[in-house]
Amino acid sequence: GQKFPPPLQTRVFTVANQKGGVGKTTTSVNLAAALAQSGLRVLVIDNDPQGNASTALGIEHHAGVPSTYDVLINDMPLEEVIQESDAIPGLYCAPATIDLSGAEIELVSLVARENRLRNALAAYLKGRSRRGEPRIDYVFVDCPPSLGLLTVNAFVTAREVIIPIQCEYYALEGLSQLLNNINLIRSHLNPALHVSTILLTMYDARTNLAQQVAEEVREHFPDQTLRTAIPRSVRISEAPSYGQTVLTYDGGSTGALAYLEAAREIAQRGLQPLEDYAYAGSHH
Ligand code: ADP
Ligand code: MG
Repeated sequence: GQKFPPPLQTRVFTVANQKGGVGKTTTSVNLAAALAQSGLRVLVIDNDPQGNASTALGIEHHAGVPSTYDVLINDMPLEEVIQESDAIPGLYCAPATIDLSGAEIELVSLVARENRLRNALAAYLKGRSRRGEPRIDYVFVDCPPSLGLLTVNAFVTAREVIIPIQCEYYALEGLSQLLNNINLIRSHLNPALHVSTILLTMYDARTNLAQQVAEEVREHFPDQTLRTAIPRSVRISEAPSYGQTVLTYDGGSTGALAYLEAAREIAQRGLQPLEDYAYAGSHH
């Protein structure tokens, strides 16, 4: 397969959009799979109680399996919950179980409630390095469709945010709320956080609407929007029911090739220098 350049240091992404069904999980698992297939080490943290990322990666996540919930609430080390994908070596997942649906409320009364995932990931990455294990190159935190404490934990953990935008009606609705929240997190909890990447998903080039949405997004976010848009593809939507990413389910499909191309763009952009961090949107 193709080789992508490894990043200068571990890149941690939160995949966020408070709308459901826009392609967050699909983007998390397929970008992760594409990067891992190219020989990089990639961790997906399933931070959504629905556990869709765990399902799509073929990772066990029935009740009782050690999971993100235990990491956030019971101080369990990440290495005790992480499983490796059978299909793609070097692709790891911290699964989400149904317990996680209670975590939004349980977190409220915990110490350092916003920092729990960040502390767990930092300890895990440090532990690997101390033990002489190879570095994790990419981390993707898949978020629920809300801006609650689970998503806040993800924003505090990551440096980069990737926002999937579905090329449909109301695509940009709610986006300013999301950007405001990211700005708030940056001011109060995580100065390094920035929207580095926007990915157009479920793009149908035949419709005027999709083209208009794409144009509008590119106008607002010229530097962040990837050139590659992910087409609407039946293969992409079928893959999760086989516990697979589209890369192993049908590696030659247009959907798989698009995610590979998007992953290549992300890898080639690499870590941007600090000056470029400030997102051009509004500051409070
Ligand atoms: P989210 O995580 O934002 O809720 P998902 O990634 O679960 O969104 O996607 C929502 C639904 O759309 C899923 O059924 C998924 O399989 C399907 N889907 C996502 N991306 C595509 C695509 N490019 N083409 C076709 N179906 C897609
Ligand atoms: Mg999802």
